[in-house]
Amino acid sequence: AASSTNEKFSIYSHEIDPYNARRISLLGELRNAIEKDALQLYFQPQICLDTMQVSGAEVLIRWIHPEYGFIPPDEFIPLAERTGVIHPLTYWICRKAFEFKHSLDSQGYNINLSINISARNLQDPHFKEQVCKMAAENKVQLNKIIMELTETAVMYDPEDALRIMNDLSEAGIRLSIDDFGTGYSSLSYLKRLPVDEIKIDRSFVMEMAKNNDDQVIVNTTLMMGHNLSLEVVAEGVEDEATLYKLKDMGCDLAQGYHIARPMPSHDFFTWISGYRA
Ligand code: C2E
Ligand code: CA
Ligand code: CA
Ligand code: CA
Repeated sequence: AASSTNEKFSIYSHEIDPYNARRISLLGELRNAIEKDALQLYFQPQICLDTMQVSGAEVLIRWIHPEYGFIPPDEFIPLAERTGVIHPLTYWICRKAFEFKHSLDSQGYNINLSINISARNLQDPHFKEQVCKMAAENKVQLNKIIMELTETAVMYDPEDALRIMNDLSEAGIRLSIDDFGTGYSSLSYLKRLPVDEIKIDRSFVMEMAKNNDDQVIVNTTLMMGHNLSLEVVAEGVEDEATLYKLKDMGCDLAQGYHIARPMPSHDFFTWISGYRA
């Protein structure tokens, strides 16, 4: 009986092994992919609901692996965070994003760029200095850069986070709280942070047009954000009804599949040159 249990166990562990093997191999390959520029940045537009003009874009990373194909950021970002690879990765993302911003500027599209930042980046004492240096190399105005942080990232180590956030904010970079409403931070804490924007999580926005509870949550968040003099972005806008509802409610910015999907830089230029409000 014991041996059959062992056999079963070994079959079972063999079955889960490929997943661990994949994670281990991904990690090594991620370092490689950063060095070889084998990752790609996609850009998703944001529009100002008052004017309906394009106001900015969010930078979203993509990894198309030669063997595994498309690997979602939700899979490799946590892996990078656990191992410290997030440091070179975020620097790579910032540098590429600033190059893109430079080409946007030179074609007359002086829009904002929002970059996602991890908890671990908020513990890096060189972060501000490195980011400012890369921005200067690409002649990027820092007040056109927004860094998105989740509530969880800020709460991970609030003292360190606050220090780096103050540094970034003093340098002119704007800060946004991503996935707002899904974390557990207190409102009084929000007041202490040098935050310029909140981004209402897509789980409240996606079905807002059909779901009254979601609408109440969005509206309340909007009023609170405005009372604290923050810009409010709604992400996950998937239909026209939601877009116009948000506009009526006085939401500042919108982002979502209904406006445009995230796209590579070349497609972004095509899209923005054909965009009519
Ligand atoms: P996030 O920051 O909340 O990014 C928004 C996610 O929503 C993106 O998924 C985007 O493609 C998706 N999205 C946009 N519009 C819609 C919509 O209308 N409906 C729905 N259902 N989804 C929409 P993506 O690109 O797969 O990224 C997932 C998460 O991975 C991001 O969530 C972010 O936490 C992380 N991530 C992505 N790129 C980066 C990066 O460059 N650095 C870091 N640190 N994290 C990143
Ligand atoms: Ca984000
Ligand atoms: Ca989000
Ligand atoms: Ca997220």
